[in-house]
Amino acid sequence: HVEPSIPRIVSLGEDVIQQIAAGEVIQRPVNAIKELLDNALDAGSSQINIVVKEGGKKMLSVQDNGHGIQKEDLPLLCKRHATSKLRSFEDLDNLSTLGFRGEALASISTVAHLTVITKPPAAVAGLKIPYNRNTALEPPGPSPCAAQNGTTFIVDDLFYSNEQRRKALGSAAEEYARILDLLGRYAISRPDVGFSCKKQGERRPDLHTVAGTSAQDIIRVVYGASVAQSLLPVHLEEPGEKMDTSTAAATFSFTASGFVSCTHYSGRKGIFIIRINGHIVQCKALEHSLEAAYYSYARNKPFVYLDIKLPGDQVDVNVHPTKHEVVFLHQEEILTCISDALESLLQGPIQCHCMRSIA
Ligand code: ADP
Ligand code: MG
Repeated sequence: HVEPSIPRIVSLGEDVIQQIAAGEVIQRPVNAIKELLDNALDAGSSQINIVVKEGGKKMLSVQDNGHGIQKEDLPLLCKRHATSKLRSFEDLDNLSTLGFRGEALASISTVAHLTVITKPPAAVAGLKIPYNRNTALEPPGPSPCAAQNGTTFIVDDLFYSNEQRRKALGSAAEEYARILDLLGRYAISRPDVGFSCKKQGERRPDLHTVAGTSAQDIIRVVYGASVAQSLLPVHLEEPGEKMDTSTAAATFSFTASGFVSCTHYSGRKGIFIIRINGHIVQCKALEHSLEAAYYSYARNKPFVYLDIKLPGDQVDVNVHPTKHEVVFLHQEEILTCISDALESLLQGPIQCHCMRSIA
């Protein structure tokens, strides 16, 4: 006999599970772009081109010149938790790739129509495969096509089956601005890679960087001359040792390099580009302590680009599926170190170009 008033427990169907998980990774076009950029970089690309239609709501594509995908792996490409980057949980401690969860393509193919074109350099022709809900569509399955070396992902009709999500998106202009903002951050942190982004049908890209340009020049291209000429270089290396009063000595080490604006720079809003072990992340705690450090010397908002490297076993990037946040050990000490260094930089002899041009 079953008590009628108590709700029964059932296991959710695979399809429902996929939809729920996908919604966590992909909330708007820029999330799909981020995942595809990470994949392109993990594939060793030196050039990445993005084309967007209606802010990515109608279509977005990411083309790279990386190592491509083997034909035999195409059936697995969009399966959840299928990855070439991770083999055991312990691998997470010294991971050199941006991805590892094998979730991005599964999610994208769940919430949009995904088409993949890939050609490893050794292959004579490319292959084009449409995916739907994690599965390579058969028929037609892979069809040969002309292609350059590398991989292109075409994402059509994001949230085609989820009206609620579609309605929650901003205008095409807003979504496009988010994409350009993200791409600027990637471009600055990877001067060794060329990036371009344009709207479909337009000839001129809205963002265009050339592989091998200096980070400073990329900042000029992305954020303009007034930011670029106010930059102070930062390089911090902390083999530091802090005595923990309660127990034994707690050691931490990190390097941080990049650029910060001098006290003459007056931006309308603070710009913080923080990269931790290769991941562009948001670190509110660091932003606050940097802003506070600035505030004692200048009443304006800073531009900060910091590339922070920590020992792999002291960082956890596996906090959230989007990897937007990371957790690391000795956070408080490290933040103090960085903001102290920033303060002494701002106090010290002025080295930026805007001062030189005044003097
Ligand atoms: P993850 O990046 O966490 O491994 P994804 O779902 O993003 O998971 O990608 C699954 C796999 O597809 C990757 O592990 C990689 O082997 C392959 N892949 C994805 N994008 C590319 C690309 N642009 N070039 C080559 N291989 C790719
Ligand atoms: Mg990935």
